[in-house]
Amino acid sequence: MLKKFKPDMICKSILDIDLETLIKKGINYLIIDIDNTIVAWGEFEVRDEIIEWLEKAQKMGFKICLVSNNQKDRVKKIESMLGIPAIYNAKKPLKSGFLKASQLLHQGKKNHQTAVIGDQFFTDVIGAKRLKLFVILVRPMKEKEFFVTRINRIFEKKILKYYEKDERE
Ligand SMILES: [Mg+2]
Repeated sequence: MLKKFKPDMICKSILDIDLETLIKKGINYLIIDIDNTIVAWGEFEVRDEIIEWLEKAQKMGFKICLVSNNQKDRVKKIESMLGIPAIYNAKKPLKSGFLKASQLLHQGKKNHQTAVIGDQFFTDVIGAKRLKLFVILVRPMKEKEFFVTRINRIFEKKILKYYEKDERE
């Protein structure tokens, strides 16, 4: 069961994702989580280095859509700050938010060229894998989070250990 949800890549931060490698894999579309992936939990500003990374990706030809389980106000603020379309209240790990994003990016026709980037196994990875999208799991920018998320992290750590062991074998 766990093998089915194994992230295709695991990185420390979105800044560590090698965009050239993604292009070589035929990926041109990015669906990116907001909280703790591009904005630290509880913060309102997108850090300069993240903005630069997003701009670089766009210059290289990537089309980007943000997908967040967070509410309209916060998501819309970040959408207008970055000038990148964003889906709010996405209800990950359900498929609907990802489907809206892939519709917006390529009318849902190029899922095989689409990668999802997020920091949570139970929302980002499971949701994306259900649609068979390429998934990159990044470490959360800040540890302080909602209670439910904190509980999920305990299981997430165990799952990551399992994958690390799986890689070694
Ligand atoms: Mg997140």
